[in-house]
Amino acid sequence: MTTTTPCTKAPIILPEMSALAQLSGLPALGELFNAFTDLKELVENWSVKQKFSFKIADKDHERVIYTCVVPECQWRIRANQTEESNVKITVLNSEHNCLLGDGRKRYSVSSSLSWLRRHLPRHLHITQATKTQEIMDCLRVQFGELLPYKSASRIKNTLLEDTLEGQRDGFRLLSSYVAVIQQSNPATYIRLSSHHNTDSFQRLFICPAESQESFRHCLHFIAVDGMFLKTLFIQTLLLAVTIDSNGHTLLLAWAVVESENASSWEYFLLNLQLAIPEIITEATTLMSDRDKGLIAASYVLAPTVICAFCCQHLKDNFITRYRRGLASNFWAIAQAYSIAKYESTMLALQETKPAAAEYLQNIDPTL
Ligand SMILES: [Zn+2]
Repeated sequence: MTTTTPCTKAPIILPEMSALAQLSGLPALGELFNAFTDLKELVENWSVKQKFSFKIADKDHERVIYTCVVPECQWRIRANQTEESNVKITVLNSEHNCLLGDGRKRYSVSSSLSWLRRHLPRHLHITQATKTQEIMDCLRVQFGELLPYKSASRIKNTLLEDTLEGQRDGFRLLSSYVAVIQQSNPATYIRLSSHHNTDSFQRLFICPAESQESFRHCLHFIAVDGMFLKTLFIQTLLLAVTIDSNGHTLLLAWAVVESENASSWEYFLLNLQLAIPEIITEATTLMSDRDKGLIAASYVLAPTVICAFCCQHLKDNFITRYRRGLASNFWAIAQAYSIAKYESTMLALQETKPAAAEYLQNIDPTL
């Protein structure tokens, strides 16, 4: 969800704020974009230009809904993916009727971190020597944004890390970082590996001692997934989480690897089992999104581990492949607790869309 911290002071918007005037804003109903990210950039510009804050009310592969951060406000944009894979604005309420009069005055800091990353470097060259106050002054003068000191300090660090050399320095410090963790918390399971020839970074796996201990008191359920890291070096973050007795998600372990592939998942699953021996000694369910590399690597799992697929992922792929209206059929089949119920719900789908029923039937039921 994209929200920004409300600021009580109203911004001073001067006519000479040319940078603010040049920002794009106010899209049109029916306007087409190449991708959802292009639409988000435009909405971010619009919010900075007109001084309001928005949030993502709903988003999936096919649509996005942005609303004003004030719940009662009618401001809203909805965009859907078209059959030609463009993104089209299908609902546009461009006027605010925020509670407390005017959301534009109430939320004077509209800029999100992603917006600041794109726009601040165009107006200020950020180096280690840049003072946080200079960043705040630049944003106030150029865009009428009253950025709090803490946020300005954060964007400075983010932009410094964005540079290639800054990120290289981060990799060089990794072995010291591992040594500090091992010294302060020796029970942490941590593995750092380098490429043989170049001694450059290959992979890192961390499972804190607290996660190892917590897992003993949790349901023996683990969900694993991977995601791209938004850095200049192409890396992937692999994660394992569980659910504690309060129903909260608990991070068990994470790894930074080259990509999601059979070898990296094998590395992750082997280390996960070594870090948390209860996975091997007691029955544990491991849920994933059917990544091909993960399926190929699952042979390293102990016999105590039962693999399951995440129905939310299955449903997302299913409605992307077929159509959104079949989601209710999917859930009726997925949640059938008897064979008779499964067969009747599958038959209903077969009558509506035979290919969709065949697609679901081809998913290995033993996984
Ligand atoms: Zn509003």
